[in-house]
Amino acid sequence: MTAAALSKTLADVFGYASFRQGQEQVIAAVQAGQDALVLMPTGGGKSLCYQLPAIMGDGVTLVVSPLISLMQDQVESLQTMGVAAAALHNGLDTEQQHEIMQDAAQGIVKLLYVSPERALQGYFMRQLQQWPITLIAIDEAHCISQWGHDFRPEYGQLGQLREALPNIPFMALTATADAATEADIVQRLHLHEPEIFKSSFDRPNIRYIVEEKYKPQKQLRDYIAKQKGASGIVYCGSRKKVEDLAERLRNDGIRARGYHARLPHEEREEVLRGFVRDDIDVVVATVAFGMGINKPNVRFVIHFDVPRSIEAYYQETGRAGRDGLPAEAVLLYDPSDAGWIRSMINDHPDEQRRQVELHKFSAMQALGEAQTCRRLVLLNYFNEFRDKTCGNCDICLDPPRQYDGTTDAQKVLSCIYRVGQRFGANHIIDVLRGSQSQRLTALGHEQLSTFGIGAEQSQSYWLSIIRQLIHRGLVLQNIQHYGTLQLTEAARPVLRGEVALQLAEPRINLAVSKPKVTD
Ligand code: ADP
Ligand code: ZN
Repeated sequence: MTAAALSKTLADVFGYASFRQGQEQVIAAVQAGQDALVLMPTGGGKSLCYQLPAIMGDGVTLVVSPLISLMQDQVESLQTMGVAAAALHNGLDTEQQHEIMQDAAQGIVKLLYVSPERALQGYFMRQLQQWPITLIAIDEAHCISQWGHDFRPEYGQLGQLREALPNIPFMALTATADAATEADIVQRLHLHEPEIFKSSFDRPNIRYIVEEKYKPQKQLRDYIAKQKGASGIVYCGSRKKVEDLAERLRNDGIRARGYHARLPHEEREEVLRGFVRDDIDVVVATVAFGMGINKPNVRFVIHFDVPRSIEAYYQETGRAGRDGLPAEAVLLYDPSDAGWIRSMINDHPDEQRRQVELHKFSAMQALGEAQTCRRLVLLNYFNEFRDKTCGNCDICLDPPRQYDGTTDAQKVLSCIYRVGQRFGANHIIDVLRGSQSQRLTALGHEQLSTFGIGAEQSQSYWLSIIRQLIHRGLVLQNIQHYGTLQLTEAARPVLRGEVALQLAEPRINLAVSKPKVTD
């Protein structure tokens, strides 16, 4: 097929003037009968890579997709363009299914969408072998990888499909894949010397912001109040938090709803529909709210809790700004969350799994704690290297300032020492700030020489200092024992004033601005 013919179909059927980055090359590979792995960010235009050759080819293209709603979206829009497309799923009656199967057998249907379960059925696979199949496309291919954040067991078995149809070209498509997932996809699908296409994963219109988590409820509500009805998603770690936060937001007059896997199907559908139609402004959700959200004008994605991997973070933040307009991704980061996430991972019985998850989480943690451009760290994880910082993340916009933190450190360290290294961060801060509380009086801690020596600074300020001292190895936080703070050997020279200590100025009340419209 000539380039001119491709361009003509692109214009006539899809109404597009030109190809997006990578599309033409992927299509050329398919037409040459090669296997392909297509890694493109959300909104990059993956579907066209198999839809266009499907329309121009003689036979049927089989598309494996994880969600009925995703299939239906695509089938509908193809049908509106006059393309013979169908989705085969259990929501149809036997008669309808039979009809679709017959049309596929005769090559009347150009694109047939199925779930992985269906694709793996013995009967279905035998039929496939009789049909004029020209291409098999595996959408959301990261679901294949057990190390991915969205593993689906049936996806893991799709290699059987490849064995049943060894001579048909396969195309695997995904918007996330670190090196490990990428290798997993190739291996499990038995892709044969695939051509790997990788466009840039950068989403320049998304502003990445990490805010230290001090008073998360307040930080969240203040942020959302400033958004004035813009659409957003808040991800958090548990169903309980989802319900709790959604309710608090509603009490603030925000049109917010919760979404998690335990809600009845109808309610989930209702939330999704309401969000897409802009009847709901904010969805507070667990990771269950994900694939299939086809909403271009999501203006912000907030992570109330840190995700387990950069892939998950990227995928979730990627739901913001699909229309290309400015959007924000805000991560509320508490270094001590990392402690318990690690201990949860360590409970996993499978050694290899544990290693992979720890590795993935370490990378996420490094992103949260980065002192350099967040986008560089993010892209770096996907093996995309740049030498220029982005100018559109919290670090670039408001670089952390170092200062001589020796005095602050000494105040904290001596306070930990004075209370006998038997108390946690909150208590230390209460003493430093000279809080009047019965507990303090009962313990006699208002008599200490360190009582009130840090009264001029806020609770959050001292929390940041303490976190840094833990991070720098001067203070040990005993997780097994109520988070008690203890001094390490490294604390001594600082306490004695023998060495100076540079600290990062606490970034309190980071003014999270409305996204600036860039031209
Ligand atoms: P992905 O699956 O990679 O997230 P889609 O295939 O849904 O992305 O495409 C994202 C959007 O880009 C869709 O609205 C699609 O119609 C549009 N699109 C795809 N290719 C082109 C193109 N060559 N020119 C203009 N728009 C395109
Ligand atoms: Zn940056």
